[in-house]
Amino acid sequence: MIKKKLIDKIRVAPGKKVNLKDFDTGWASVPEFKEAGKDAVKQKAAEILEENREELAKAQELLWASDIHSVLVVLQAPDAAGKDGIIKHVMTGLNPQGCEVHSFKQPTAEDLDHNFLWRYMRQVPERGRIGIFNRSYYEDVLVVKVHPEMLDAARLPPGKRGDGFWEKRYEDINNFEHHLVRNGTLVLKFFLHISKDEQKKRFLERLENPDKHWKFSAADLTERGFWDEYTKAFEDALSATSTKWAPWYVIPADHKWVSRTLISDILVNSIDSLELEFPKVSEQKLAALTEAKKQLEQE
Ligand code: ATP
Ligand code: MG
Repeated sequence: MIKKKLIDKIRVAPGKKVNLKDFDTGWASVPEFKEAGKDAVKQKAAEILEENREELAKAQELLWASDIHSVLVVLQAPDAAGKDGIIKHVMTGLNPQGCEVHSFKQPTAEDLDHNFLWRYMRQVPERGRIGIFNRSYYEDVLVVKVHPEMLDAARLPPGKRGDGFWEKRYEDINNFEHHLVRNGTLVLKFFLHISKDEQKKRFLERLENPDKHWKFSAADLTERGFWDEYTKAFEDALSATSTKWAPWYVIPADHKWVSRTLISDILVNSIDSLELEFPKVSEQKLAALTEAKKQLEQE
């Protein structure tokens, strides 16, 4: 388990004005790590990730059996920050029946005929399940804020795009998440914080390695041109929507072993904090079980 002190450092306090420069993208975010050295920290991280895989599988079973809560994991990140790898590596070992991933791309014509939260509301996890949003309603205050002309397609009523438009969207998001939490959903939000240099490295790898060519899209490079605008949009969104009920975690993402271990740890500990229990069977059911056991043994 990762020390609480470290997790507290990457959790955005409600109301805090976020400046992403204050958050690490690397591995040496605390002096003890620097002292221990990269290899030792990496080794320890691998051990924790392995333990957490088992813990997460147990937590998921309990979530399913107790059937009271659901978990919504929101993943937001610049391109190539490792969302897919997180889903693959952290979620290995989960029972596919109790876990679902939804990836959100550009909205369809049908999506655009509805309010902006509609397509996400339809995919929130059922009780007992873990749902992962690979991109989410935050795109509507990120990519759309960076490219406001995208709003044209939403055909909002006249006068609705004026002052305070984005603040109202943040408010809608906060209320939506509060609604989910009040109804038993644990909402965990991860921003994968990658440096501009590391993104360049990963894009170049995609261009140089034929097995990775499929991962490269020219649009990724265009969006990289808006790096500063995205940083600002992320800072605004993180500042406005990290709440007591649905906090943001700024996950250092230049090293995949760091981001994967941190996210798995936060997931396991957050589910643990729900203090779930396996349902107790009634006296009557217990008697029936004893009877069934007796019958089988006498066969
Ligand atoms: P991959 O790792 O496969 O590239 P991805 O999540 O980047 O995964 P893409 O198909 O490359 O998937 O990109 C999806 C695009 O859809 C992103 O550019 C994202 O900003 C955009 N998108 C998602 N939601 C919205 C939205 N609500 N409005 C406008 N664009 C959106
Ligand atoms: Mg992409």
